[in-house]
Amino acid sequence: MKTLRLILGDQLNSKHSWYKTNDKNVVYCLFEMRQETDYVTHHIQKIIGFFAAMRAFSNHLKTNNFKVVYYKLDDKDNTQDLVKNLKQLIKKHDIKKFEYQLPDEYRIDQQLSEFCKSLDIESEAFSTEHFYTEREDLKAFFKGKKQYLMENFYRDMRKKHDILMAGKQPEGGKWNYDKSNRNKWKGEHQIPTYKYFKNDVSNIVELIKKSDIKTIGKFDTKTFSYPITRAQALDQLKYFCEELLIHFGDYQDAMHTDEVYLFHSRLSFAMNIKLISAKNIVDTVLNYWRKHGDNIDISQVEGFIRQIIGWREYMRGMYWALMPDYKTENHLENTNKIPEFYWTGNTKMNCLKNAITNSLDNGYAHHIQRLMVTGNFALLAQINPDDVDAWYLGIYVDALEWVQLPNTRGMSQFADGGKIATKPYVSSGSYINKMSNYCDNCHYDKKEKLGEKACPFNSLYWNFLDDKRSILVNNRRMGMMYSLLDKMEKDQLVNIKKRAQSIIENPDNF
Ligand code: FAD
Ligand code: SF4
Repeated sequence: MKTLRLILGDQLNSKHSWYKTNDKNVVYCLFEMRQETDYVTHHIQKIIGFFAAMRAFSNHLKTNNFKVVYYKLDDKDNTQDLVKNLKQLIKKHDIKKFEYQLPDEYRIDQQLSEFCKSLDIESEAFSTEHFYTEREDLKAFFKGKKQYLMENFYRDMRKKHDILMAGKQPEGGKWNYDKSNRNKWKGEHQIPTYKYFKNDVSNIVELIKKSDIKTIGKFDTKTFSYPITRAQALDQLKYFCEELLIHFGDYQDAMHTDEVYLFHSRLSFAMNIKLISAKNIVDTVLNYWRKHGDNIDISQVEGFIRQIIGWREYMRGMYWALMPDYKTENHLENTNKIPEFYWTGNTKMNCLKNAITNSLDNGYAHHIQRLMVTGNFALLAQINPDDVDAWYLGIYVDALEWVQLPNTRGMSQFADGGKIATKPYVSSGSYINKMSNYCDNCHYDKKEKLGEKACPFNSLYWNFLDDKRSILVNNRRMGMMYSLLDKMEKDQLVNIKKRAQSIIENPDNF
């Protein structure tokens, strides 16, 4: 039967069972579309990366004699709309069956299910064969439970898939080595030179410019450095095992003015567009460790595995358990506008300047920069979570809604009232100072709460606790913070709140 198979831009899984046989009646299609470039303002490197990887994937299929229709952004037949392009191809190729892999984004999932309902030919959806879990597994696992704790899900994943287990017990005796993952990096272990790929993307850059697509961020070379093919993704993973795994856990939370990536893997883009599967990553890391890892402590390995089979699968499960209502939750009733400096990096606050500049230059910031610098400030300044989501969804090359939204609205902004994080991730300047060297060269003084030179995070922190008292005071994990607030002199709190207000009203002056 003549079949049309859709491949979305984040479904570049060459190991999918679709490609095990080559049926001449099957036509595959991939589209570069304004629908996707314009639904949020993306980082230029994100659009470049998607188009470059899609083109490489299409070429790979064509080289293997699969029949492929690829619409570049400026192809004359490209309607720039997913449904219209599909309808056009169904007619043109006299298609009798439409097949697609389940999208990870709710928006596209809705669009495709509506489309299938409207068709008068058969249609079928397939798993992407990328994740360990299917969409609804997490919801089923937590059925009847009040709280969806990541740690419970993670332990179950370890047991179910026999990962880092010694019989029924966790290998090494502990489920979680999070507490040993909290070192500040002071240059004691040299960070190896990064693995950069040199993918020539000058045609794509020209196309983006010619098409007048609104973008953010920088791209001033001709080559895209993240992996865009499976071979490159495997190469990046090998490099991670050989050079970075040894200190991954130790410095997972560290930040430094001279280092963008520290010991982080830079694998999120490759993983999210499915060049490489979660299982592939976990198996490779474990095999490497077992064969060559005599000098690599289990805490480094467990720290990494937890991110993949724990946080990543958990966030996806939460997304599907909680959408579509999740996208509009605003438990803390935050309504302020996002500061202009999020788009420019133009601020005297050194931590924010660094985290935002990294993001604008590289489409990348690591987890703690996202959570405890940009996310922390946005929450303390009580920014509208819609603004915060739009920023995070646009700025990172790895940003796709299924993973960005629960991380941003849930973990970082507590806008879901605690479905993901058990308490808001807020801190004064002292946490940032503990984990980085940002405060050393900052215009502001990390210790001061009041005065022109006082670190803005300090007054914002106490002001936040005071402003949100009625919502947060009964949270058991906030007890210590509120008892410290209650011990503060009334006059001091009034002055702190005045300073915080001046920051909230004019964040771009700071
Ligand atoms: P590493 O530090 O090397 O970690 C390895 C892998 O673990 C990552 O590649 C990623 O796949 C996975 N991982 C780690 N933490 C998480 C997490 N919290 N949720 C899901 N997967 C995780 N990640 C995205 O992939 N896309 C996003 O849009 C995204 N938005 C985020 C927004 C906020 C506010 C926060 C706090 C985190 C966000 N993350 C997101 C998670 C994390 O910051 C990135 O996955 C990570 O920084 C990517 O860099 P890396 O590949 O070097 O990661
Ligand atoms: Fe950031 Fe405050 Fe430290 Fe400056 S002093 S880097 S604003 S935490």
